[in-house]
Amino acid sequence: MNFIEANDPDVWAAIASEIERQQDGLEMIASENYTSPAVMQAAGSVLTNKYAEGYPGRRYYGGCEHVDVVETLARDRAKELFGAEFANVQPHSGAQANTAVFLALLEPGDCVLGLDLAHGGHLTHGMKLNISGMLYDFHGYQTRKEDCRIDFDQVAQLAREHKPKLIIAGASAYPREMDHPKFKEIADEVGAKLMVDMAHYAGLVAAGLHNNPVEVADVVTTTTHKTLRGPRGGLILAKKDFAKVLNSRVFPGTQGGPLMHVIAGKAVCFGEALKPEFRTYAQNVIDNAQALADSLLAGGLSLVSGGTDNHLMLVDVTPFGIGGKTAETALDACGITVNMNMIPFDERKPMDPSGIRIGTPALTTRGMGQAEMKTIGGWIVEALQKADDAAAHENIRQQVKSLCKEFPVPAAALAADET
Ligand code: PLP
Repeated sequence: MNFIEANDPDVWAAIASEIERQQDGLEMIASENYTSPAVMQAAGSVLTNKYAEGYPGRRYYGGCEHVDVVETLARDRAKELFGAEFANVQPHSGAQANTAVFLALLEPGDCVLGLDLAHGGHLTHGMKLNISGMLYDFHGYQTRKEDCRIDFDQVAQLAREHKPKLIIAGASAYPREMDHPKFKEIADEVGAKLMVDMAHYAGLVAAGLHNNPVEVADVVTTTTHKTLRGPRGGLILAKKDFAKVLNSRVFPGTQGGPLMHVIAGKAVCFGEALKPEFRTYAQNVIDNAQALADSLLAGGLSLVSGGTDNHLMLVDVTPFGIGGKTAETALDACGITVNMNMIPFDERKPMDPSGIRIGTPALTTRGMGQAEMKTIGGWIVEALQKADDAAAHENIRQQVKSLCKEFPVPAAALAADET
């Protein structure tokens, strides 16, 4: 029985269209993924009915014996997955996790270093319109002009000059492995704490393919829905010393009742990530990104930093005489979803920048491999070369649709039949 369809056809119509969009198109937004049917079922479970303010064993509501089991499983699995002493699985999102950490480690007005938004940073790392930029004195470090890698000379120089209380490593649009030990060296030199926001590459860390920030940082935050392939949400990991203050800044500091259905989805996700198959998945994500990057380079596009070590690449589309907005629209017409993105030292504006960001986590979950990446790279090049040619886009769209039929989305059947 489809209760949404029966009770609310308007909402169902939109969900049904989204199921079709996810099945028939190539999802290449670097921060998106497809959860397993088990994660989706947990996130849609009866746990959505339960209030559970507090933490396992110390709740402000009765009837929490079963959600306590779920939250304890989620915390223990997160700790095991990343080798952490402490985990808080309650943040509703990555932004909530970061805000709670700032409240735990900083006073208003304190100085913080973070990666400049225009060089791949995230808005919670000091953007003026975000609470981080409103409450704290952020200074942005950048990437180097010659190779678009993080400029550690500049990080060290800014650290010595401003004596920050906190240094943040982590990014939303940086195609290379993050050198966490180097950040730690600089933080130690100036007596700053180190926070790593591994939201984008947490899945690669969980699989042991990228160096683990938990080994060096005071606090690590992440989202659970990107390369980690869980439900939408946030997670904080830290050394034991920070447990009490971090817990209190999540609840009651910035949140009320935890989303227990989402925490159940996180527990299932961490369980999946602990299995050997997840390592294979994460390796395939990287291999696919490199195959796609090679095919874009062969087609005449330019990549920020020349390639990728992780799940994403930043493509400079200006060699084709177009901007990122036109590129995003042209690819959309082909059923290929990406997002326009600033590139380092961009001379164009944020609403029509020079680049697009492309990622492979979602297509890898569907089972696509390097052969498919080569084909898709060819379509992307053709679509951008013929940015004004609607017929060419329609032709690619049909080919995209037939490729997608061969690689079903994991939870589409569940969403369609059992919602
Ligand atoms: N941190 C980084 C590095 C991110 O890329 C993102 C999201 O894109 C976030 C934090 C925020 O996550 P959310 O959208 O769940 O608030």
